[in-house]
Amino acid sequence: MIHIQDLTFSYKKDPAFSIAIPHWQIQPGDRVLLQGPSGSGKSTVLSLIAGLAKPESGDVTVGGHEVSGPGHSDQWRADHMGIVFQLFNLIEYLNVLDNITLPLQLSKLRRAQVQATGATPLAMAHHWCDQLGIPPGLRTQCVGCLSVGQRQRVAIARALIGEPAVILADEPTSALDLANTDRFMDTLESACQGAYQPTVVFVSHDSGLDRYFTHTTTLNAGVLGGYGVI
Ligand code: ADP
Ligand code: MG
Repeated sequence: MIHIQDLTFSYKKDPAFSIAIPHWQIQPGDRVLLQGPSGSGKSTVLSLIAGLAKPESGDVTVGGHEVSGPGHSDQWRADHMGIVFQLFNLIEYLNVLDNITLPLQLSKLRRAQVQATGATPLAMAHHWCDQLGIPPGLRTQCVGCLSVGQRQRVAIARALIGEPAVILADEPTSALDLANTDRFMDTLESACQGAYQPTVVFVSHDSGLDRYFTHTTTLNAGVLGGYGVI
C-alpha cells in the first residue's frame, strides 16, 4: 500500500538534518507504529507519505499512486487519506458535526463511499460520534469549547469518515494521560475492526502502545530501524 524506495530528504533551512530510507513497504491493512525521539524526523516522514513534502531523490507511492511525483494533488490526498494532525487542525468556528463532515465536502470519492452505505453525511457523522463516544449534546457545539480529549475524537472521526484507504496520525495521544491514551487507542482500534480496514501509520513517542499495532519501527536521526511484526 505504501512503498518508499531510495528516499532522501533534507530541509533547505536545516541542512544538518536529513532523512534516508532505502526501502520501506507497508502492506494494505497494516497498522504501523512509528516511534523515535523528538526531532528524529517522524513528522517529516508523515509529510513525505502524505505528499506534503517532496523527496530530494527516490519515490513514495501510496496504492500505486506516486505522491512524490508531479501528478500528486491536494484532491488525491483528500480522497485517499485521513490525517490526524498533532494539533488536530479543527475548524474552530464550525460545530462538531460540520468538522466531521468536512472531508465529504472536499472529496466526491469519500461522499460516494458514504452514499453507498445508504446514509446521509449527517447520519454518518452521528455514526462516527456514536463509535467514538462523542455525546449527542456536544455534537452541535463549536469545537472551541471541547476538551483536548473530545477534540481528538472529533479529529479521528473526521479522518475516518468516508473510509479513506490510509490514516496518518501524528502523536494524537501526546497530550493525554495514560488512562485517556488507552481509551483513545481502544476507540481507534474498534473503529478499524469492521469491514473497513485502513492502512494506519501512527507516530508516537509513548511507550506501551505496541499492542494496538501490527508492525513497529523506530526512526533515529532520520534513519529507519528494522521494520518488525508485533
Ligand atoms: P519529530 O516529528 O520526530 O519530532 P520532525 O520531523 O518534526 O521530527 O523534525 C526533524 C528535524 O527537521 C528537526 O531537526 C527539525 O528542526 C527539522 N524541521 C522540521 N520541520 C522543518 C521545517 N519546516 N523547516 C526546517 N526544518 C525543519
Ligand atoms: Mg513531530
